[in-house]
Amino acid sequence: MDPIRPLSSFINGAWVEGSGPQTPLLDAATGEQVATMAAGGLDLAAAVQYGRDVGGSELRGMTFHERATVLRNIGKFLLSDDVKESLYELSFATGATRSDSWIDIDGGAGVLLTYASKARKELPNGKLVIDGPMEVFAKDGSFAAVHALTSRHGVEVQLNAYNFPVWGMLEKLAPAFLAGLPSIVKPAPQTAYLAHAAVKAMTDAGLMPDGSLQLICAEPGDLLDHLDGQDTVAFTGSASTAQRLRTHAGLAQKSVHFTAELDSLNAAVLAESAKPGTAEFDLFIKEIVSETTTKAGQKCTAIRRALVPDALVDDVAEALRTAFADVVVGDPRADGVTMGALVSLDQRSSVVEAVEALKAASEPILGDGNIVDVDTNRGAFLAPTILRATDSHAAVLHSLEAFGPVATLIGYDGHDDAIKLAAAGQGSLVASVYCRDRSEATALILGLAAHHGRVLVVDESVAKTSTGHGSPLPHLTHGGPGRAGGGQELGGMRSVRSHMQRTAVQGSPAMLTAITGEYMPGSPTNEAKGHPFKLTLDDLEVGDSFTSPPRTVTREDISHFAEFTGDTFYAHMDEEAASRSPIFGGIVAHGYLVLSFAAGLFVWPDEGPVLANYGIDKLRFATPTSPGDAIHVVLTCKRKTQLDGRGYGEVAWATQVINQNGKVAADYDVLTMVANRPGINGAPEAQA
Ligand code: NAP
Repeated sequence: MDPIRPLSSFINGAWVEGSGPQTPLLDAATGEQVATMAAGGLDLAAAVQYGRDVGGSELRGMTFHERATVLRNIGKFLLSDDVKESLYELSFATGATRSDSWIDIDGGAGVLLTYASKARKELPNGKLVIDGPMEVFAKDGSFAAVHALTSRHGVEVQLNAYNFPVWGMLEKLAPAFLAGLPSIVKPAPQTAYLAHAAVKAMTDAGLMPDGSLQLICAEPGDLLDHLDGQDTVAFTGSASTAQRLRTHAGLAQKSVHFTAELDSLNAAVLAESAKPGTAEFDLFIKEIVSETTTKAGQKCTAIRRALVPDALVDDVAEALRTAFADVVVGDPRADGVTMGALVSLDQRSSVVEAVEALKAASEPILGDGNIVDVDTNRGAFLAPTILRATDSHAAVLHSLEAFGPVATLIGYDGHDDAIKLAAAGQGSLVASVYCRDRSEATALILGLAAHHGRVLVVDESVAKTSTGHGSPLPHLTHGGPGRAGGGQELGGMRSVRSHMQRTAVQGSPAMLTAITGEYMPGSPTNEAKGHPFKLTLDDLEVGDSFTSPPRTVTREDISHFAEFTGDTFYAHMDEEAASRSPIFGGIVAHGYLVLSFAAGLFVWPDEGPVLANYGIDKLRFATPTSPGDAIHVVLTCKRKTQLDGRGYGEVAWATQVINQNGKVAADYDVLTMVANRPGINGAPEAQA
């Protein structure tokens, strides 16, 4: 895929050229020009409005599952051979090796697929999420409230760092898109051509709803001035840029949502018990090599500080010297190269400068590695550099990020010291601990957790399966406290929820049922349509209900159930012992007997639309059931979820087992799969 030179921007529904001076964007390894980027000349106010008006209404018109389907399609598209290979080819220009590009490109597509799959399992097939149970305020139950999450009517502006132009964009796009927020992406200039190529491929393929993704390949200009409280700025970059943005007058005055994923001096801690010769020692060494060389160390999560018991510093230094001997630095396109270039000569200068500053409290033990067959005046190559602290507590080691292949080996004296040193980073994205001893690991993790967004314990048992120190996962929060910015870009549905507006909606249960689409207790029910198990998903409505006749539970039933199942717990068998129980005061029925009788009371036995029962949610046994009690069941359709194209959907039934005194014996949601009408949503046609 040839990058377009100069890079155009995709705003207001079209690709447009910017104007003003063009900045050349250079290949990190060869110094050749890859593309140019215009300074400005774009109508960014119109782009924000277009995102809100066109992209926002498109997304808000779709259910969560429909949005998930789009994400899945884009993920698959980006992984298709032609598209992926063309992005890989261009990615070499950023200095990335093929395995670096795998993290950026396949990793980015993987984020979309993960979000798509989680959204279909964890979000309703609707446009609103109910957050927590209904709160009732009136004694007679007539006035209540629920918290509802709805899509904001704004945009998410992404200000992205240069190091992962594809993954960095998609990790923010996925949760925002699911939440119904269109994205306006401003990539970092150094690698903007790769973000440009990915967006071009996605939009040319017609996969994105109109206005849901816009791309600005130019300076951000007055972009932030056009935002308000419906919008989010999702920033990834350095702490110093974030500092400037946090005080941006417009953002603060209009309460624009702001998240920041910043630099971070992440620590890896070798436990005292992880002596040389243990698997944990070897895994620690391996991880430092991998974190220092992947993306030439330009990873926000990379290990910057290797914390090692004082007594083991010499051993670790020796092992690192040996392990780094295999690293080959060179043009990422060349065979045998294991580490590519930094993104630019400027970036290399700033890393070299940072290393010089770090030397105030450390000395290099490695830094003259194997750089092969390249012109280091044109390509931003730098050998991996490992420093050894001469003063473990010197502030510079814990505050200065050298954003390149650089890590410092720092000795610690006991666990408290290790935790103190890690905390001196003022808040980091991730810490990893290499430790087999569970009590030692627990002590370390409990001390480290407050200062980190993610902690990882590595021992021999996860040697093959660990995803590694530096890998943010879409299922888990990615971000960290303090200096790391406090942001949480990833985190599965937590992240989606954080992009939505939480509103307390007050009213009658009936009104709340109508608004949320989910049955709220106290809302009217409808038994007039007959047994609801006879209704297809299309005929069934929330609130359709069934009340069973009563059944008396006898002592013989209880004894039979005990012997039949083997559950001979004394409370079901021994009157004397049961009478001493402060809870039962005599023999009681098994909870599972009550559930089994309930199933017998509410089931409609014939073949029909209910295809299967796949579980129970939120089960509570509220009142014990004693011999002689007469129980009946009230079953009400609580929630319907259409599953696209499968011919059936999920139905949750609010279920209560009630005794002769009106007390609730058991309360739970029965989960079933219910067929569509013949011919609808992929259901088989009716047989003639
Ligand atoms: P940067 O210089 O802070 O820039 C980040 C982005 O912000 C760029 O797109 C930049 O665009 C934009 N920007 C700067 N000033 C702006 C303004 N006034 N208004 C709007 N946008 C503005 O960071 P970088 O050098 O690209 O990235 C390296 C840093 O990112 C490292 O410190 C690394 O630790 C951090 N990082 C953190 C994470 C994380 O998840 N925590 C991930 C990756 C990287 P312009 O250059 O056009 O101004």
